[in-house]
Amino acid sequence: MAAGIQPRRIPAGARAGQPDPHAWMSPRQAQTYVRNIRDAFIALDPQHAATYRSCAARYGEKLVELDRQLRAELGRLPANRRTLVSCEGSLAYLSADYGLQEVNLWPSQGTPQASKQRLQEVAGKVRDLQVPAVFCESTYDDSQQRQLARDIGARFGGTLFVDSLSSLDGLAPSYLELLRHNLNLITQGLGSDRP
Ligand SMILES: [Zn+2]
Repeated sequence: MAAGIQPRRIPAGARAGQPDPHAWMSPRQAQTYVRNIRDAFIALDPQHAATYRSCAARYGEKLVELDRQLRAELGRLPANRRTLVSCEGSLAYLSADYGLQEVNLWPSQGTPQASKQRLQEVAGKVRDLQVPAVFCESTYDDSQQRQLARDIGARFGGTLFVDSLSSLDGLAPSYLELLRHNLNLITQGLGSDRP
């Protein structure tokens, strides 16, 4: 499904050097998944090719719209607001596509726990930048990130959905809702003043 996506390598941790799977976090990369899914359906069920094409085109337009919105909103942020701090290194594609600097407590696919040394390292890196908000992914315990927020005088900006959707009545019941939810949290968090 990720064919055609230029893989980013995991920079550190047990899986260092392996492809980072989190390309779906970027609306721009997601357009490739949509094309791949469309083509796979058409190969299996060529009779309905026209339907798959029009559904994929409609879905793709929504991703293009999210991409445009995100570029516009993040484009307004000053340089010191362009640092995206999360728990897991799940935002490398999103950050690269939208000009953000990604900082995480542990690498993609790594052990979900930061050492004391790593926490100090991250705090040192982002304290001087006056980062207004930091985030954590829904599949992880966010207590270290909340502590980091207190330590550097930032706010905990909320829970990003990355590796799974929410329940149907939750904040991210579909993939598009997941992206919208995350993009809203990120633009609000990074756009806000320090607490
Ligand atoms: Zn993940």
